[in-house]
Amino acid sequence: MTVTSSVVCEGCGFEWSSITPSQLPTRLRNATTTFVDVLRTSPVALSARPIPERWSILEYAAHTRDVLISIRERFVLASIVDGHIGTPIFRDERVDLGFYKLDTPEEVAEELQASSRLFVRTFEALPAGFENRVFTYSPISKADVTILWAGAQALHECEHHLGDVRENERLLGD
Ligand SMILES: [Zn+2]
Repeated sequence: MTVTSSVVCEGCGFEWSSITPSQLPTRLRNATTTFVDVLRTSPVALSARPIPERWSILEYAAHTRDVLISIRERFVLASIVDGHIGTPIFRDERVDLGFYKLDTPEEVAEELQASSRLFVRTFEALPAGFENRVFTYSPISKADVTILWAGAQALHECEHHLGDVRENERLLGD
């Protein structure tokens, strides 16, 4: 099964099929630059959860950093290995096991910036046509996707979680 075009995020309206390889780098850079600005300048408590079910701004940022690292690995390996199966990120387990508990806003800001730069640079270095290579995104979802779709997924994570962070600022600022 190839993930098709008609998917739209109910939360933020992101449309995976509308993303082209040429627009992805700028949009991703813009989203992570804004994210980093929030980590450096937001007046609200970055490690506070407004409600128990929502992550803190710092946890959303750490998750987004890890997403960029994880998806970059998936598309590099999908470029090399036919029939590659990506490694799932296990988003909640990382938080629940405390892997983010030593993260500080300044460290995460630097790491998010660095992982964004690295992601974009690697994506831009893809050999011609490789954005159409297909791989299995994760052994859990078993969805077959293209490298371009995975790039759009990374962009969606950055933009969607930036929206979560703005919502946290609103909830904590009230
Ligand atoms: Zn979304």
